[in-house]
Amino acid sequence: MSYDDSNIFAKILRGEIPCEKVLENDYALAFDDIAPQAPVHILVIPKLPYESASQFLQTASDLELIGFHRLIGEVVSLKGIHDSGYRLIANTNRNGHQEVPHYHVHVLGGRDLGRMVL
Ligand code: 5GP
Repeated sequence: MSYDDSNIFAKILRGEIPCEKVLENDYALAFDDIAPQAPVHILVIPKLPYESASQFLQTASDLELIGFHRLIGEVVSLKGIHDSGYRLIANTNRNGHQEVPHYHVHVLGGRDLGRMVL
């Protein structure tokens, strides 16, 4: 499967459609999910084109891997959700119900999120 650069997050990265930016660094961008499932619902995406968690984790450079995960940490800190708790989700492919084929981590918090799998 090759990366489809017409996906919505690719368009956000190119500035073709807007987003509510939360934070960014050289390697990743964090923005509010358009349909939030919790009081805090932020998506963190790598700036380079990776379609899935697997592809990112297997092929990204060390700097990208570090930069991406550091940004997640900064989002958690900025939103003050560490103590109350939060959840990171990376839906992947069909069984994971991944809708947008650009790797993203959901950062969810601000309420009791229930058990992990419905
Ligand atoms: P997935 O199921 O792929 O893990 O989740 C994709 C997420 O992207 C969904 O939570 C959905 O609400 C969000 N999303 C889809 N389109 C847009 C958009 O245009 N802007 C933003 N900010 N989020 C979007």
